[in-house]
Amino acid sequence: MKDRILSRFDGTTKGVFLSENLFELLSAQRDIWPELKKGYEMLSSGRIRDLTGNGFSVKIQYNPLRIRSTMAGTEGGIKKEGCFLCPERLPPLQKGILYRDEFLILCNPAPVFPFHFTVSHIDHRPQYILGSIGIFLSLARDAGDSFTVLYNGAKCGASAPEHMHFQIIPSSCLPIERELTEVTFTLVKQEKGVNVYQTKGLSRYAILLEGKAPLILEEVLNNVIGQIKAIQGIEGEPLMNSICLSREGITKILIFPRARHRPSAFFKEGDGRILISPGVLEMAGFFVAPVKRDFERLDIDIVDEIYREVSSVCDIK
Ligand SMILES: [Zn+2]
Repeated sequence: MKDRILSRFDGTTKGVFLSENLFELLSAQRDIWPELKKGYEMLSSGRIRDLTGNGFSVKIQYNPLRIRSTMAGTEGGIKKEGCFLCPERLPPLQKGILYRDEFLILCNPAPVFPFHFTVSHIDHRPQYILGSIGIFLSLARDAGDSFTVLYNGAKCGASAPEHMHFQIIPSSCLPIERELTEVTFTLVKQEKGVNVYQTKGLSRYAILLEGKAPLILEEVLNNVIGQIKAIQGIEGEPLMNSICLSREGITKILIFPRARHRPSAFFKEGDGRILISPGVLEMAGFFVAPVKRDFERLDIDIVDEIYREVSSVCDIK
């Protein structure tokens, strides 16, 4: 484990910003790790299409490197012996930032964005947000205005559901970040200084929490996840994806309750098959298509249909 640590961040030193550590990590890793360099080169030659729906927009990215992530879990689960996030099995050249003594921030060798990090627990333990809500929020605060933190539920998008992890990407890459307005979100309630909204449009359902005090946000998020669990009738973690961002001292948490992981088109045979596995990126309006034909044929009707199948309305109180 020790040889995996390039730098440390514990949030206690004034004037030290996580964003600087992130920029340094990526730069250092690109210099020494050819696979990562290649991943970013492929990304820069990638293509993006923009689609406009009724009151929302979507981006589609052609990214063949993401096929492993899109197909994750279709051939059974990954055992600890094959877990690619366990520190002892990381590629020999991969190093990271030890974050608050509990997580290792790593460069993702199959990036979707110009900066793309995986934040992986130092121990092999299942993806389960309820055990790490505090870290989810502190990551967003520490990463600051330039970054956005993502969480994929174990059953709806996580490429390594057996190993707890988050992701960090640059701010403003996700179309939904521009749609967090009163036009698309209605205030449901105010609780101890936290505003709770839900969508009225956007083609999929989402809950938005907005506030300043970390402990109260944690409490309200816990409560909302508990309500989603009860509505879904699920033991353990409900089907959900989440985004956390901190902008000018205000924290925003988006939660996408899910009805299922993959749309029916994923399981079709022949030409009708569409290899899209919606996770947090897709729910946030950023679709990753590892197959060129899907990249070219996705239109707003297909996107609407995917959202209709995988999103679930959870009216919270
Ligand atoms: Zn692991």
